[in-house]
Amino acid sequence: MSTILIKNAQVVTMNGQDQILDHANILIDNNIIKKISAETINDKADKIIDAKGKLVLPGFINAHTHAAMTLLRGYSDNQNLDKWLENIGPIEGKMQPEDVYWGTMLAITEMIKNGVTCFLDMYSHFGSISQAIIDSGIRGVNSLALVDVNQADKVNLDDKLKTIVSWHGKGDRRLTTCFGPHAPYTCSGLLLRNISNLARKNHLSIHIHLAETRKEVSDIKRKYQMSPVELMVKYDFFSQNQVIVAHGIWLGDRDMTIFKNNKVSVVTCPSSNLKLNAGICPTHQLTNHGVNVALGTDGAASNNSLDILAEAKLATLLAKYFSSDPAALGANKALKMATINGAKALGLAKEVGSIEVGKCADLIIMDNSGPQYLPNHNLIANIVYAGKSSDTETVIVNGKIVMENRKIIAFDEEKVKMEFNKRVKTLFK
Ligand SMILES: [Zn+2]
Repeated sequence: MSTILIKNAQVVTMNGQDQILDHANILIDNNIIKKISAETINDKADKIIDAKGKLVLPGFINAHTHAAMTLLRGYSDNQNLDKWLENIGPIEGKMQPEDVYWGTMLAITEMIKNGVTCFLDMYSHFGSISQAIIDSGIRGVNSLALVDVNQADKVNLDDKLKTIVSWHGKGDRRLTTCFGPHAPYTCSGLLLRNISNLARKNHLSIHIHLAETRKEVSDIKRKYQMSPVELMVKYDFFSQNQVIVAHGIWLGDRDMTIFKNNKVSVVTCPSSNLKLNAGICPTHQLTNHGVNVALGTDGAASNNSLDILAEAKLATLLAKYFSSDPAALGANKALKMATINGAKALGLAKEVGSIEVGKCADLIIMDNSGPQYLPNHNLIANIVYAGKSSDTETVIVNGKIVMENRKIIAFDEEKVKMEFNKRVKTLFK
């Protein structure tokens, strides 16, 4: 049992009315936001944080990453996706559960320092990632990576389902789990169809890479005379399922309408897409079609950082360039993509993504006393276009302080760095 009272903050709620509250107080009771008020809150609290002159925002949501790829940061730069996958494959093949655990812990450290309170992962060694989420105090959705093309072993989906369900809800419900079929070029039609059926039956989300490269689209068009999205429809992948599509770059009008009609969310990863020269996600057009668009960093091997606020700025700039319209995807929409849209994509919009009474207390306190926040003509524009994720001072996840005044207090940061470096040394020996 613990209570936290945050006093005198400027609160960017990201609620349905986009309210910004001045001199507001927030009372957190255990893991829940109990009160938000401009009036003094007289309830006794175990911890009082005076946030005068500071901002409180919902924590950023990284809706697509491969956290443990921090181990490969800077290893295969300046390659396209195919060559890059070829280069990193042999190292990934050598990774042990401990490598993935410490790789994920380092990624979580970096994300927390960048104000991220929740992320969606897909990688091998599912248990190591799940354990890191539980141990670190962050919120995470872990999708079990599945591949069966060119694999010696058949995928036993019943076993995989048991694994997914066994971790679901652990760590005070901070950890949720789902299916993660990698992509249409690494998964057979039969596997994708079976995953879709199982997900529907068990109310589990599906996370997949889709329409990421020109080559993926042209290969599928040649083989099936349809787009990757239409191929998924053929496998009955979307109907009554919560599907999270990573990238969604090469999309036509019909594909976007399919997404809209099936409530598919798209997670754009602009830095990774530019770096691998994969293309630019039509975020503005998707938004106009009524598709929910969220933000991801992708892995640190193709980004190379895990900074959602930086992705928000890049996404808005790219939308303006791509649409030849400086009014496309303004700062407010970009900040939504970094917060509430991420929560919607992950099926967590009732719990997180905005600061509202009754929601889980996943929030960050940012220091906006720096010169980049002056003058204050438009606070949201200042945050998105001029702010830095390193302005994040304090991070609260599920009502617990995980970082205070930029010091991680939920775990030992130095130990994480030391163990991570040890694993890298062995892995690249
Ligand atoms: Zn990815």
